[in-house]
Amino acid sequence: MNDKAKAPAAGGSSRANTKKELPEHLKAYKHVWVLVELERGVVHPVSWELMNEGRKLADKLKVDLAAVVLGAPGGTDHVVTDAFCYGADVCYVVEHPALADYRNEPYTNVATELVNKFQPEILLLGATNLGRDLAGSVATTLLTGLTADCTELDVDAEGSLAATRPTFGGSLLCTIFTLNYRPQMATMRPRVAAMPVYQQGRTGRIIRHEVSLPEDDIITKILAFLPDSTSGKANLPYADIVVAGGLGMQNGDNYQLVKHLAAVLGAEWGGSRPLVQKGWIPSDRQIGQTGKTIRPRLYIAAGISGAIQHRVGVEGADLIVAINTDKNAPIFDFAHLGIVADATKILPALTETFRKRLAVTRSAAE
Ligand SMILES: Cc1cc2nc3c(=O)[nH]c(=O)nc-3n(C[C@H](O)[C@H](O)[C@H](O)COP(=O)(O)OP(=O)(O)OC[C@H]3O[C@@H](n4cnc5c(N)ncnc54)[C@H](O)[C@@H]3O)c2cc1C
Repeated sequence: MNDKAKAPAAGGSSRANTKKELPEHLKAYKHVWVLVELERGVVHPVSWELMNEGRKLADKLKVDLAAVVLGAPGGTDHVVTDAFCYGADVCYVVEHPALADYRNEPYTNVATELVNKFQPEILLLGATNLGRDLAGSVATTLLTGLTADCTELDVDAEGSLAATRPTFGGSLLCTIFTLNYRPQMATMRPRVAAMPVYQQGRTGRIIRHEVSLPEDDIITKILAFLPDSTSGKANLPYADIVVAGGLGMQNGDNYQLVKHLAAVLGAEWGGSRPLVQKGWIPSDRQIGQTGKTIRPRLYIAAGISGAIQHRVGVEGADLIVAINTDKNAPIFDFAHLGIVADATKILPALTETFRKRLAVTRSAAE
């Protein structure tokens, strides 16, 4: 483990005495796989973000990047096309009626069967509800290591996966290796990695695999699908613009100024962790290490100090604008634009200015 700001150089000497020889039967494991999360016809974007990470690992290892697509018969073609365009060289496709909706048992059986047959050295999944559930059972079944919620993935000089994640309450980063087992498994949260470029017309090799999944052998049954009534509300990880407030907003009433600016900009709103603890905002609006990771084009942070636990959740933003009365606040170390001012005064002024400017732009467009 090491200081928060920087993960150890992959292949550092700290583990020199811990590495054992990989057992002979695991030496054949090759290639990097991303398990594509497909639910009700829609791919979770984290799967494509992982293709970006997977591509880098595969290029370093000089192996193929493969997408694993599981779904109902006839329901995967569009996913396979997209997987190639997002960088896959190979697609392993398993279609079966029992895979129409996610259930742990058939998905685990199929994923482990694929791994045992085709032997990937690295298997990546999104740290979503589905990915976390599946990764745990697949790793347990395969008796291999899994590093959850990684913030960085790399390969060391010996070709081992160096999976970095926060530890000790986020005050340290640790880099974890799975040296003696295969595949090396890791999950990564949405928006930690960037989306890859969509390369229209790119194709690759499709490997279809037949499985036997008698419905009678599966304990869990899907009786009905009830969509989450809150889905589509807070969508911080994928918002283009996010406005957030911190303790510098001073009270819940002042926090409303954050929401006003967000409404004018068509943005999502959120905040630092203490605001959740104070009950000013709900927990699904918390941004940071134990909240949401965001990657907007514009992030406006008002009255937020920029503690490391907040920083790790926002530093993927294209443009960070910080408003803080303290010119020495840590947020100015990583913000692109800083405004040293009272947020309770600046926010209404920004809201009014944007309201007028956007009204002019919209009426000109009509
Ligand atoms: C295990 C763990 C996990 C955590 N996870 C998270 C997480 O996910 N997200 C998160 O945010 N935090 C998290 N934290 C908490 C984190 O360490 C900080 O305590 C927190 O981010 C601070 O919130 P803040 O910036 O709103 O408040 P403060 O640190 O108190 O900062 C308030 C800032 O507002 C400024 N200010 C004051 N008045 C004004 C004004 N009128 N106008 C403008 N600026 C003003 C001050 O100068 C100050 O910089 C975590 C902590 C731990 C231990």
